[in-house]
Amino acid sequence: MAQKKHIAHKPRPVTEIGIGRPKLVIGIVIDQMRWDYLYRYNDLFKADGGFKRLLNNGFSCENTFIPYVPTVTGAGHTCIYTGSVPAIHGIVGNNWFDNIDNRAYYCTDDSTVHAVGDTTVDVRMSPKNMFATTIGDELRMATNFKSKVIGLSLKDRAAILPAGHAANGAYWYDKKGYFISSSYYMDSVPTWVETFNKRRVADSLYSLAWVKYLPWNLTTQSYAYDQYAEDASAYSDRPFGKNQSQLPYDLSKYIGKDYSKIATTPQGNVLLEMMAEAAVSNEQLGKGTATDMLTVSFSSPDYIGHAYGPDSYEQLDDYVRLDDVLAKFFNFLDSTVGKGQYTLFLTADHGVSHIPGFDSTHHLPGGYFYGDSTVKEMNQQLAAKFGTDSLVKGIDNFQVYLNHPLIQSASLDKKAIEEWVIHYLQQQTAVAQAFDLKDIGNYPVTAMQKEMVVNGYFPSRAGDVQIIVKPGFVEGGGPADSHGVWNPYDSHIPLLWYGWGIKQGASNKEVYMTDIAPTVAALLHIQMPDGCIGKVIPDVMK
Ligand SMILES: [Zn+2]
Repeated sequence: MAQKKHIAHKPRPVTEIGIGRPKLVIGIVIDQMRWDYLYRYNDLFKADGGFKRLLNNGFSCENTFIPYVPTVTGAGHTCIYTGSVPAIHGIVGNNWFDNIDNRAYYCTDDSTVHAVGDTTVDVRMSPKNMFATTIGDELRMATNFKSKVIGLSLKDRAAILPAGHAANGAYWYDKKGYFISSSYYMDSVPTWVETFNKRRVADSLYSLAWVKYLPWNLTTQSYAYDQYAEDASAYSDRPFGKNQSQLPYDLSKYIGKDYSKIATTPQGNVLLEMMAEAAVSNEQLGKGTATDMLTVSFSSPDYIGHAYGPDSYEQLDDYVRLDDVLAKFFNFLDSTVGKGQYTLFLTADHGVSHIPGFDSTHHLPGGYFYGDSTVKEMNQQLAAKFGTDSLVKGIDNFQVYLNHPLIQSASLDKKAIEEWVIHYLQQQTAVAQAFDLKDIGNYPVTAMQKEMVVNGYFPSRAGDVQIIVKPGFVEGGGPADSHGVWNPYDSHIPLLWYGWGIKQGASNKEVYMTDIAPTVAALLHIQMPDGCIGKVIPDVMK
């Protein structure tokens, strides 16, 4: 019998079987960036600045929307990096009330861990309340944990949630003026973080004050500010004290006293960018054998936007300066990681409405929805009708939470209370709709609003009655601005791609925040996160 001829398999060269990947993936979130800022301030952005580098050389998804409510920071950062929605990943807001534990939660609360680094406050945070994996988690698993994944922000939740469960670390800025982390990731912060903290960067940034960045124009005899924005001092909040109502702001009084104020100035972006450079250099990101990932969330635009609104000199000044900060970071990445060696995306966790004072000045619709006083008023009237006080626990994420244990122990009719609440809310000036969340299938609300509410609904963390406010109405007592609703000003966000594997161009096709993570996964040839419902955006890829 003739022996079968053995056919030797010629080994293929590594390049043939290997897949290409960038050395580093950088996810940049601008906390509170409306899509229209890209164009409103376009003339003021430098030709070699950050935004125009991405717009001109990268790919812009011009119609990117958030597919759920509430449009807030915790949910937004989670959605970007999980490709999922609160109904699945569980981060239904920055805060919520847990119906099983019967207590309030902050999104990154974790009583089993403690803060590491130089802090005086008892900070206990981790990503454990998030039920899905992030793109960083998937990258870590795909490379047998050879990839390094690090999250950075001034805000704890904006560092922790993007980095994910299996991250090497997340660092955020603490009230004491230092970047800190959690025992969830490490026993103590690395030496480079201690060294960075010792530089006391915040002190030198405070001493610079916040002055107008754009110069006086000799030809037009005006500041560029007037062409693009207005003096909001008549209706804005005053984060630096009653006597400081407009630029320039003296910040020197905070040195050695209050380090939280830096977040409400453009200097907060400068501080974070310096920290990002330190992380890349010291953690050797982009230098290993596997692709690394860095998430950077710039919080200052959110603090500034809450105080002054999107039409103010302050927010304009912040974005013009942020353009420089981004340019500096991209130049740094070019020289350390290498031009074309990294993939970067820039997006936002939510937008913002116009500030109600701006609306009334210009005869535009809008106003405040006073959550706290609404709760107080409802409880007074409910007590008179049902004989029990505090039947409403509170309003969070535009949802009314009823006091279930109390209703049960007093043997009250929950349905009747709920109907009374709905009827009461429907009479309020700010409210367009109020309905039983569990009965949303039978409630006549537009298909898009219904989908956004359902995508944000996680039963054990949800309220009982959903409130949809009229366009232009923001939650709070004023004079501050806010976000959180379905409307385009909160849900239409920028999405820019740049670098390795990215095409040059733009598209007006409607895509969603949930599409970012699967697109990154496709670029890296790794599995998409485990709660992902988004779709790959093929247009952006080479
Ligand atoms: Zn905000």
